[in-house]
Amino acid sequence: MADMYTQRLSIALFVMTFGLELCLVSTSAELQRFNQPLKDDGSLSFLVIGDWGRRGSFNQSQVAVQMGRVGEKLGIDFVVSTGDNFYDNGLTSVQDNAFDESFTKIYNAKSLQKQWYSVLGNHDYRGNVLAQLSHHLKAIDSRWVCLRSFIVNAGLAELFFVDTTPFVKSYFIEPEGHRYDWRGIGSRKAYITGLTQDLDMALKKSSAKWKIVVGHHGIRSIGHHGDTKELVENLLPVLQANNVDFYMNGHDHCLEHIADTQSPLQFLTSGAGSKAWRGDVKDRNRGGLKFYYDGQGFMSVQLNTNDTQIAFYDVLGNIIHTWHTTKALHQSS
Ligand SMILES: [Zn+2]
Repeated sequence: MADMYTQRLSIALFVMTFGLELCLVSTSAELQRFNQPLKDDGSLSFLVIGDWGRRGSFNQSQVAVQMGRVGEKLGIDFVVSTGDNFYDNGLTSVQDNAFDESFTKIYNAKSLQKQWYSVLGNHDYRGNVLAQLSHHLKAIDSRWVCLRSFIVNAGLAELFFVDTTPFVKSYFIEPEGHRYDWRGIGSRKAYITGLTQDLDMALKKSSAKWKIVVGHHGIRSIGHHGDTKELVENLLPVLQANNVDFYMNGHDHCLEHIADTQSPLQFLTSGAGSKAWRGDVKDRNRGGLKFYYDGQGFMSVQLNTNDTQIAFYDVLGNIIHTWHTTKALHQSS
């Protein structure tokens, strides 16, 4: 009897394992890559903005003006969008005029006429995701590059963009009256396993001096949403194991800098592109917290071979936090 039970258990385990392997094989694929042209001296600078598309309202336009000014000063190479690109419910179709009114017409400064590398946020998933990912948008505005997960090779830095919305279980089981467009996602668990495996593989292969991961949801945050449990469990170990330097996100409508207490990883939130949540803050005594600002603004990143300079700006363009690090310091800390 016991033998038969053991045998059945073995068969069940074999089927589960084999089934899992099949899942992994079917969901795992190399992430699409883009090559970012470099400046002659090899340095790199870019702006990071999140949670923005509101047809100019909630100071979106004012933040955009300051981005243009800072972008000019730094001679930026590109812009990173951390998602929630179009409020409240993403784009309805590729003809949706929100694309023009919240993106093209708003970020019209000369210095911002660069590639915009964007991930999707949870609000984007409430619209027509396939429209926002469509190549047709690039025909309307050639700056727009938005995929679920992809890699930008920028010489001394490699940026890994990760689609974090499907990680969050509550969007599937407690959508709170919202409809999420899960086309192309399939099983949540298989998606997470496949994506973290792809990311781990790509990070291990990377020889870039600086490794940057971008997602919409925060891993660590003291803002309204706080930590994202699913990312702490599934994504953070991959980042720590591969010596990722920075994780950049939006979702909480604030500017924020938290140092990881277990590795040199820095958590940088730039989700203040339009509506901000003043006073919505959890634990200001949290370990590793270096900066928290609950108003509107954006972030800049300047990278050289040996050092990185991060700056946060408010809606008037004032620098409100800077942080500098070198690789030597990283390795010894
Ligand atoms: Zn969000």
